[in-house]
Formats: sequence, structure tokens, C-alpha cells
Amino acid sequence: MTKATAKTEEEFWAAVDRSGGPGACWPWTRGRHAAGYGALSWRGKQGQLASRVALSIKLGREILSELQANHLCNNPWCCNPAHLYEGTPKQNAQDMAKAETTNTTKLTAALVLEIREAYAVGDVTQEALAERYGVEQVNISSIVRGDSWQHVGGPTRPSKGAPRLLTTADVLAMRVAYAAGVVTQRQLAEKHGVRQATICMILLGDTWSEAGGPIQPKRPRFYATEADVRCMKAMDAAGELRTDIAKKIGRGCTSSYVLRVLGPKPTPTG
Ligand SMILES: [Zn+2]
Repeated sequence: MTKATAKTEEEFWAAVDRSGGPGACWPWTRGRHAAGYGALSWRGKQGQLASRVALSIKLGREILSELQANHLCNNPWCCNPAHLYEGTPKQNAQDMAKAETTNTTKLTAALVLEIREAYAVGDVTQEALAERYGVEQVNISSIVRGDSWQHVGGPTRPSKGAPRLLTTADVLAMRVAYAAGVVTQRQLAEKHGVRQATICMILLGDTWSEAGGPIQPKRPRFYATEADVRCMKAMDAAGELRTDIAKKIGRGCTSSYVLRVLGPKPTPTG
């Protein structure tokens, strides 16, 4: 572990990875306490918590002695002042209980891969991904850094300077070719070695807005009602294909949505 010493704000921020942008968690890159908090010698005082120093810099004063720098994001190593507030240990415990009830169980390994790839490929924000996948920004942050869902793989960005997989010129060429009807999303995905979901986000302008080119009109996002789900299950039980089920449900329902509702087909036995 590198022992960190900082006397100035510049020295302090040099030890914080802010590459994720203003909304992301900012990991402390040097020594950590056993509990995961960044630790440093700050202006001559040993064993200071990095998150506490980050908040005091933002506030322009010391944290009150009976209070602490509480994390909204539950990542003790995070030094983003936007994720910190001066509060009591009791408030901290309440925050942690709340964060634990944030439901990320609705995500699957396939969706986590999509999220990581979309984030690695484009300029989509963590907030936009959070909204798209119905989770909190802090969940996205921990997914794209590889702190959660470690077993899934896919591109993660533990440190700054991770290369982008695509260029602005690639994106522009994709949009032009797709609008002209000369390629399918699947072909684009194969050519560039990314997922179709990523291509879809690019074509809809959800990512890479600065690259320009023709943007595909958005279909209203499909949500299954309880009746839809019952229909899907009944059609599935009757042996219908997912694409046919999606077509019959209509209103923009896709076969991948049907897959998410029904889950993978059990392997036939016997
Ligand atoms: Zn954070």
C-alpha cells in the first residue's frame, strides 16, 4: 500500500480517480483502512479519512468533531463530495439500510454485460444507464468499475485512461449506413465487436450524441402489464416462439423483452 501524504488540495485530488465524471464514485487510489476508507496524512495529521478530507475541502472548513462524512453511495473509498454529507453515525446506518434495499436483483448477467459495454463504448452517463435499467446511479457506478457482479466479466474501468472501443467516425459511419438501410444492427455489432444493444443505443442517439449523423426515431418503451405476462406464459407453454409472442403482444414488445420475462428455456430432459 502506498502511504499517502497531502498538504495541499492539489496533492489530495491527485490521489483521487475522478475519471468517471461528476456523477460517478471517485475512488481513493492510495492506502486504505481495513474498512475500505481511504487513509492519508493530511496537513501533518496522520490517519485521516480521505472521504472526510474531501468533504471538508468542499465545505471549506473542518467537519464538526461529533459528525462524520457519510456516504450516500455506500462506497467507503469514494471521495466524490457530491456523494458525501456531514451527518451523524445514526444517519449513516439509515442510509446503508436504504441502499441495501435498492433492488439490483432485477438485473441479470446479460444486462450487466450490456451496461458495462455501453459505458465502455460510448459517452452515456451513469445517470442515463441508471434510468434505462431502473436502478440507482451508485449501482451503475459499482457495476462499471467491476466492484459488483465481478463474476460476469465484460469491460470495466477500474482506472482512468481506459480506451474507448469506438471513434466518432465509426459512430457516424454506422448511423449513415443504418439509415441508408444497407446494414442490420446485428451486422454492425459483429463488425465492431460490440453487442447489438450497444448499437441500438448509438442509433437512437442515447449515446454518442456529439458524433452527429441520422438518429433513428424512438419507439415508446414497452412495459408488460400483468395480463401481458400471463399471455406470454400461456403462449410459451403452448410452444410459441419468442419472436411470435412479441409480435402478438405488440405495442413495441421485443423478443428480448419476452426472454427477460420468461427466462431461458429449460434444457429438455429425457
Ligand atoms: Zn460515491
